[in-house]
Amino acid sequence: MDNKDRNISMIRDLVNAHAPSGFEDEVLEVVREQAAGLGDFEEDHIRNLYIARKGNSGKPLMMLDAHADEVGFMVHSVRPNGTIRFTNIGGWNPGTLPSSRVLVRNAEGKYIPGIIAAKPIHFMSQADRDRKPEISDLSIDIGSTSKEETEKVFKIRIGEPIVPDTPFTYDEEHDIMMGKAFDDCVGVAALIETMRRLEGEDLKVDVMGVVSAQEEVGSRGAKVAVSKVNPDISICFEACPSDDTFTEPYAIQAAIKKGPMLRFMDRTVICNPRFQRYALDLAEKLGIPVQASVREGGGNNGAMICVSEKGTPVIVVAIPVRYIHSHNCIATYHDFNAAVELAVAIVKELDEEKVAGF
Ligand SMILES: [Zn+2]
Repeated sequence: MDNKDRNISMIRDLVNAHAPSGFEDEVLEVVREQAAGLGDFEEDHIRNLYIARKGNSGKPLMMLDAHADEVGFMVHSVRPNGTIRFTNIGGWNPGTLPSSRVLVRNAEGKYIPGIIAAKPIHFMSQADRDRKPEISDLSIDIGSTSKEETEKVFKIRIGEPIVPDTPFTYDEEHDIMMGKAFDDCVGVAALIETMRRLEGEDLKVDVMGVVSAQEEVGSRGAKVAVSKVNPDISICFEACPSDDTFTEPYAIQAAIKKGPMLRFMDRTVICNPRFQRYALDLAEKLGIPVQASVREGGGNNGAMICVSEKGTPVIVVAIPVRYIHSHNCIATYHDFNAAVELAVAIVKELDEEKVAGF
């Protein structure tokens, strides 16, 4: 059953949580609420959260992965004028940053609103206009007038995380979600909803959900998870960059409202070709919309999963997100739901013989 209202509210809670790489705790709190009853939880020190499905009994083990972390920033230092110099956690296009609102965590754990400063046009020289901003040149202004005020009154200290300040919205009429952190909160929500829809089903595989840490800085959590779980087969739920607003139609890799994107490869993983074909054929057979792609860039946790001790067959079921890794992303519930439908069908259909054949 498609429990849309509940899922939209789950996505809202995940997206609105603050969780740049290394600071995943808030997202994990939401996962613990949303996935309560779906299995036994275990958490490790890097902040991977494992959800072992009830009834696992030594059958081939399917690892469902989605990463908890979002791209964000960290306080680097405080300038004499009280503004904050910051550095990126994960990949950002610096051109999208000036004039964006952010939240900076302080020493008391409160999130202080700030603005990534942009010089008013009145003060811009020709050189300013021609220059592409570097993140190290940018500042966050919290309204302070001195370094002392920023540190003593606002209680900002170095090493604290910074996140975009973009509340989630959903336009029901047009099925448009807007917000930050869709990469990979929509994937985390898809993982949880997949496990919900599998509740009580008599499966021929065991299932371990892994909400992994630190994907955006090189899939570090997945590396830890793979050595612990040692899966026989795996699906990564991801958000992938949608290119449908700026690519020649013949070469579009991921458009919104056309279903999840399954990549044959990206720069870090060649998805198991037999498992990939199986998933695409199954989608076609069941009439689930899906898009196949060959990525020329990118990477994801599949990189760590495919080089496990078993060379685990992995595919990436990714929900297209326009303007990914920015303050303002667009995605659709249609694609989320199709991703879940496909994953549920795959898990229900798989058995030991099929897994062995990949
Ligand atoms: Zn991602």
